[in-house]
Amino acid sequence: MEFNLNNKVRPHLAGVKSYQTLRDSYINKQAVYLDANENPFGEFNRYPDGDPIQLKKKLAEINQAKTENLFLGNGSDELIDLTMRIFCEPTKDSILIMNPSFVMYEIYARMNNVQVEKLELNSGFQLEKDLFLDTVSKSQAKVLFLCSPNNPTGNSIDDLEFYIQNFNGIVVVDEAYIEFSPEDSAVKLLNKYPNLIVLKTLSKAFGMAGLRIGVGFSSIEIASLFIQLKPPYNISSESQKLALLQLNNLEVLKNNISIILKEKEKLKLGLEGINSVVKIFPSDANFFLIEFKDAQLIYQKLLDKNILTSLRHPSLNNCLRISVGNADENSELLKVLSEIKES
Ligand code: PMP
Repeated sequence: MEFNLNNKVRPHLAGVKSYQTLRDSYINKQAVYLDANENPFGEFNRYPDGDPIQLKKKLAEINQAKTENLFLGNGSDELIDLTMRIFCEPTKDSILIMNPSFVMYEIYARMNNVQVEKLELNSGFQLEKDLFLDTVSKSQAKVLFLCSPNNPTGNSIDDLEFYIQNFNGIVVVDEAYIEFSPEDSAVKLLNKYPNLIVLKTLSKAFGMAGLRIGVGFSSIEIASLFIQLKPPYNISSESQKLALLQLNNLEVLKNNISIILKEKEKLKLGLEGINSVVKIFPSDANFFLIEFKDAQLIYQKLLDKNILTSLRHPSLNNCLRISVGNADENSELLKVLSEIKES
């Protein structure tokens, strides 16, 4: 399919100038900084690097990508919002999302006054190709959001390339949980598909949710748009510094992922022995979607013991999404679950 980025970007953005700062050209140079109305005193007085090159280099290396194909957000949440603000005209355009999937696609669409079209997943939480082709033949959606592994269902989406190939707009593949999964990242498809954006995050497998760093990968043209249109200085200097420190110890982070995956298997075995559990859905992520006889009751009983889970309704009747914690947290969960009496 012919893809022309200029036809996809909201027309008025061509004339919008972004915030200009001298700072990025003077990073690490001795200079007298009187350009940004900062306070000359204090530990955190300077604005951070607006396009954090060191962090981007490290993330490019880890993800076998090139720095120029990368852009950063204050969490991938910010990049989801920016995607709509760059490509979707309020009140006119729509996005296409899987249902069920990550709730923020719809929430940001509503905030931006962008319409939402939904592709219902089948009973195995997969997309149906016929339904997809039929929907896109009638749809004018500007952006397709695919989430794999999908939140809240946990499964990976089969044959992602088919959907990327057959959508004549921007395709966002949200890989927030990919590091927990055996599947390959769609980053390797970037050379083939100029309409592709891959989103990752440091919040999940990398264990840095508190630093709020989301990572986007795309063509250089799309990456430049995000860099130009994002809020200035969207990654704090402390986040940049601390993330780099953590990523320089990649072995520790990888080891944590394997601990989580081992705990996940143990947790699954434990859950299979719980009476009120009806079904544990297959998961490639660090959580399980679990059907209970009465999810509301289980949710409340867990909450009474200060165990927080996520009640997924109305589209997933009687289901809770439960994250894999550490060994103690998982044992506590299983202990409380085993003690709940359903009348
Ligand atoms: N995408 C998915 C699928 C998620 O589950 C989440 C967080 N729950 C995000 C994106 C946002 O992640 P963050 O903003 O922390 O990078």
